[in-house]
Amino acid sequence: MLALKNISKSYESNPLLTDISFTVAAGETVCLLGASGSGKSTLLRIIAGLEAPDAGQVCWGGVDLAAVPPHLRDFGLVFQDYALFPHLSVFDNVAFGLRMRSRNRRSLATLENVAYADEKTLVKEMLDIVNLRGFEARRVTDLSGGEQQRVALARALAPHPRLLMFDEPLGALDRTMKDDLLKELRAILHRTNIPAIYVTHDQEEAFAIADRILLLREGVILREGAPAEVWNDPRSAWAARFLGVGNVVEGKVSNVSGVRYQVETNLGVLKMQCKHRHAVGEHVSLLLRASDTGMKLKAAVEDVAFNRDQFRVTLRGGLMIELERAPKIGAEISVLFAMECLGDA
Ligand code: ADP
Ligand code: MG
Repeated sequence: MLALKNISKSYESNPLLTDISFTVAAGETVCLLGASGSGKSTLLRIIAGLEAPDAGQVCWGGVDLAAVPPHLRDFGLVFQDYALFPHLSVFDNVAFGLRMRSRNRRSLATLENVAYADEKTLVKEMLDIVNLRGFEARRVTDLSGGEQQRVALARALAPHPRLLMFDEPLGALDRTMKDDLLKELRAILHRTNIPAIYVTHDQEEAFAIADRILLLREGVILREGAPAEVWNDPRSAWAARFLGVGNVVEGKVSNVSGVRYQVETNLGVLKMQCKHRHAVGEHVSLLLRASDTGMKLKAAVEDVAFNRDQFRVTLRGGLMIELERAPKIGAEISVLFAMECLGDA
């Protein structure tokens, strides 16, 4: 399968990607999650062979792909802007992927020299998969954004690539369209068992689609794991903030007794146990999450915002919690918080 080994890339001596290594297993969807400018698209271009790394290797089945040009790597790409051919019909856009592949592969296998009748069947199959049955003759310019992205997906799927790469594919779509397509995409990837790398800056999208998340910060993989693992244990204040996990509270260690610490924060002095070693005076970041057990904090409700099936409630002092029922603004409420230390602030 795909293995990246110690990939680094700089532009004008500014490091953009530093020592990136990861693998993508058969049928696995790996999501590269990072802020805009963190090097995600550059990494995809390197994997696709459109750009060379300064150091490191892109390997498939243990073989370095450095000498393999992009059109022979057998990887499919789907972009945010669809990159469809506006002058071609839906059919011809999808068939394009097949024709490119049969041209590239002609000398390798006659089997893949798709005859026109087969091409028709295959395009139809692909359009079925992406829920665009009967769209063959439509002009792509007459389609909605969501439909255009489905055509792009069908075009990428048609040649049965050994890897699919998505670069912020839903970035241009509205929320409902995004949610629907995301669900379908996940089902399609699992059904076809094609391994995929999905790039986004949107943590909700990442959590919804990924089997495994790679959190990219300034060109370095900061955290890697299944969505639930990363959510339950973000391991750094930056990751917790970026993912929107609980509340990150900064504080200063004011007392140490074995593994017991007191930390001065703007919420008052918090008492906790911690697996790290801290000295008095050290600045630390704490993660506070509403929980069934833990420390009880009483605070007034400052703001309530509806957030899908829950209410996002801001308490005086800045803590945020999610509740199923909206409390009244100004009311005092008690909340239990589980608290953990994320290490140095
Ligand atoms: P992301 O996709 O995460 O937003 P990119 O991979 O597009 O990040 O690139 C991040 C930064 O790398 C860009 O903001 C730009 O400064 C720099 N960069 C990318 N490609 C080039 C290039 N060809 N020449 C110079 N700088 C580049
Ligand atoms: Mg990008």
